[in-house]
Amino acid sequence: MKYISTRGQSPALTFSEILLGGLAPDGGLYLPEQYPQFSDADLHAMRRMNYRQLAFAVLSRLVDDSDIPHTDLQAIIDKTYSAEVYQYVRAGQSAEDITPTLKLEEDLYLLSLSNGPTLAFKDMAMQLLGNLFEYVLRKTGQTTNILGATSGDTGSAAEYAMRGKQGVRVFMLSPYQKMSRFQTAQMFSLQDDNIFNIAVKGVFDDAQDMVKAVSNDHAFKAQYKIGAVNSINWGRIAAQIVYYFKGYLAVTTDNRQKVSFTVPSGNFGNVCAGHIARMMGLPIDRLIVATNENDVLDEFFNTGLYAPRGSANTYHTSSPSMDISKASNFERFVYDLVGRDGGRVRSLWTAVDHGGKFDLKASGDFDKVTDFGFVSGHSNHANRMQMIRAAKAQYGVTIDTHTADGLKVALEHRQPGVPMLVLETALPAKFEDAIIEALGEAPERPASLAGLEDLPQTSTVMDVDVDAIKAFIVANT
Ligand SMILES: *Cc1c(COP(=O)(O)O)cnc(C)c1O
Repeated sequence: MKYISTRGQSPALTFSEILLGGLAPDGGLYLPEQYPQFSDADLHAMRRMNYRQLAFAVLSRLVDDSDIPHTDLQAIIDKTYSAEVYQYVRAGQSAEDITPTLKLEEDLYLLSLSNGPTLAFKDMAMQLLGNLFEYVLRKTGQTTNILGATSGDTGSAAEYAMRGKQGVRVFMLSPYQKMSRFQTAQMFSLQDDNIFNIAVKGVFDDAQDMVKAVSNDHAFKAQYKIGAVNSINWGRIAAQIVYYFKGYLAVTTDNRQKVSFTVPSGNFGNVCAGHIARMMGLPIDRLIVATNENDVLDEFFNTGLYAPRGSANTYHTSSPSMDISKASNFERFVYDLVGRDGGRVRSLWTAVDHGGKFDLKASGDFDKVTDFGFVSGHSNHANRMQMIRAAKAQYGVTIDTHTADGLKVALEHRQPGVPMLVLETALPAKFEDAIIEALGEAPERPASLAGLEDLPQTSTVMDVDVDAIKAFIVANT
């Protein structure tokens, strides 16, 4: 299996060759040359598999044995997807399922993806990435310095995945005093030698701009082996495909049954993995994109217009991990939508990369969106609060604000006889204040995380200063 760029002008590379990098040299995103196909017989055999076996069945079709020997791949998967790592399941669920389903009512389920160390779905991919990075670096004798910016979830998932890993250092920038208390404590209480938390005296965008400035200094980037784990990383998408299979198989007994998934979306990474699972032959009826007030994606799926917004027009909401107005993985879907025409994607993104927009309505491409199963909806703060209360009252389940966005939109798109799975992208304990606002009481917190905020914290406070972060990296490598 080789990987090609959505902009059609980069050489085809293997999985391990693109693992440590971000964008392709032509500015595009990597996708498989063609999607492996899962037949009826394949799906039938997969019905007996546990999560680790399923992950191998999917990932071994995306990674050649000559690239990463499949015995090694299986060992990496086995180490990653264990009940010990994904321990924070709800009472009555089995951690062995890794991503258990929770039935809310007939044909309506939550797919729990947030049982890992940082209580958000990002652990599903990031934990695998940590083990893959360590493996590939050790094999090639390389090291990497991961530089990233976070508003909360990505940074913590990356740090918990990379802590203690050989050959990897993590430099994570976050906006000073702007993450939730829980998120801050999660990251800053890590005392591993290879984890560096830098609190930037600015907003998330300032931190992000510092990362971009360092990455654009090609000489520095090469000398200090700066790597990235942002949401466009192909390894993350590949890992996320697995749980669509797991969810499908958990709620069906027969491959003729189709199901739909609703996905709380920001950067389009999670739902992009669902799109790829569908392209591989998984019987998915619809993929429902749920946004919050930052509804750029909802606008596209309703009108054909993709108009990313600047940070001034990106609202801070109570589902903050979806406060994104430029969905970086969206390019992967559009590549398939326009018939895998790299030239076409290149011209569409020439506009986007310069602050512009595009409209696919007139070209006829937009009519094909429904062939790919996509529909969408959005919600607002009042909807979320109402949904959290309704889920508690009707199903006895406390859901977080992002999952509430998903459930609200899912209920608007149910079809008789088609099971609907709503992806649970975080546990409510991660967003305590919003739950208290909705329910008047704090959500349950896993016992082992009690007192997290009282642990000693370590971080370096820094001005918005590119030279300062460069000097910090130099001093600590
Ligand atoms: C990152 C995140 C999302 C958005 O996922 P994308 O892959 O960016 O679409 C939704 N919910 C939570 C809790 C997240 O952390």
